[in-house]
Amino acid sequence: MTSLYQSVIGQIAAIKPLLAADFPDKKVFNKAFAKILIPDRVVKKVLTLSGKKFIAFRSQHNNARGPYKGGVRFHPEVSEDEVKALSILMSLKTAVAGIPYGGAKGGIKFDPGKLSLSELEKLSKTYAKTFSSLFGPWLDVPAPDVNTNDQTMAWMLDAYERKIGHLSPATFTGKPIALGGSLGRAEATGLGGVYVLEKYCKSKKASIAVQGFGNVGYWFTYFAIAEGFKVVAVSDSTGGIYNPTGFKMADLLDLKNRKKTLSNAELLHLPVDILVPAALENVINKDNADKIKAKTVLEMANGPVTNEAAEILDKKGIDILPDILCNSGGVTVSYFEWAQNLQGYSWTKEEVFKKLKEIMVKSYAEIEAIKKVKQVSYKKAAGILAVKKILDAMILRGFN
Ligand code: NAD
Repeated sequence: MTSLYQSVIGQIAAIKPLLAADFPDKKVFNKAFAKILIPDRVVKKVLTLSGKKFIAFRSQHNNARGPYKGGVRFHPEVSEDEVKALSILMSLKTAVAGIPYGGAKGGIKFDPGKLSLSELEKLSKTYAKTFSSLFGPWLDVPAPDVNTNDQTMAWMLDAYERKIGHLSPATFTGKPIALGGSLGRAEATGLGGVYVLEKYCKSKKASIAVQGFGNVGYWFTYFAIAEGFKVVAVSDSTGGIYNPTGFKMADLLDLKNRKKTLSNAELLHLPVDILVPAALENVINKDNADKIKAKTVLEMANGPVTNEAAEILDKKGIDILPDILCNSGGVTVSYFEWAQNLQGYSWTKEEVFKKLKEIMVKSYAEIEAIKKVKQVSYKKAAGILAVKKILDAMILRGFN
């Protein structure tokens, strides 16, 4: 199977011919393009906790548009290739959103379910201390990712501040509110996806199936129903439920304990207007892409549709609204958190949502305009928008 890194590189390489006309100086264009395929820095360290060794990474992809930005994940599958790929995706996502950041990603390779809370605290703090010279509000700003959360950020912030000798809340985002986190961060990714949905889909009668009911799937479903959309199916890792006339949010609150009537494969194959994968990567792949009956796939997870599957869906005339647009609400509110910390001032939830909507709507409009002019898919249009912004910034700097 193609690795995420190969797949991301493949996506960017496919954009090169579509961008060539925008850059008359071919020598500079080729040089900048070659650089964008390789992270600026990948640091690997071995952390020790109670005599056990843990492999940890930070990949900093590109900072031409602003400080490196990206989450830290705890997972047994974390690898150098994975953090490299995810750091590139972060550069693309922050560029699509037009927020002043580059891209980064970090991780520790282990199963967090096997450590006690106090061991997790020690390991998080060791990570922050070990990589501290890479971090800072104008250097690299970590955030939560898979199996890390606001508590992890609180531990990392504390260890980092002790190491550097002064407070620096803007170095980490996704923090608890009590330590400078932003109101609205929990809802941001799901809500941002619904802002995209509202722009794309003029009819509230559209039927929607959502795979995954964690942070992203829950809030996406919540705001979609609140806006009057018809959510007919939702699922978590144990399976799904289906109601062709549409659910109320109150029907879904006990999803975990509900008897599931639908497998996750069946949910993906439902004849709905909008299919929303909001759980894992690679769930729509060459083995099941032919069976997708939805008219549109709105990617809320990172990388839920493989490159091969995207080609199959394209041929079937199914639109894919890309992850680097649809789930960029999370990093956008992380940016608001950073901005609030640097100002020493906090915004209301209403202000956060209003500013988030402006950014999501603007990004969507920019992608739609490129799609029309270049006659490409939404996914390629988003890639063109992102790569062009990064290349422009690199070239303006006179990179070497
Ligand atoms: P989460 O851990 O809160 O939730 C994941 C959900 O997926 C859970 O409901 C789980 O039961 C379900 N799930 C797991 N395996 C499944 C399977 N095989 N089939 C169906 N459902 C399954 O995670 P999250 O924060 O909601 O993130 C979901 C996705 O969105 C990930 O790809 C993540 O990288 C991406 N994402 C998250 C954010 C964020 O702000 N949380 C931002 C951008 C992207």
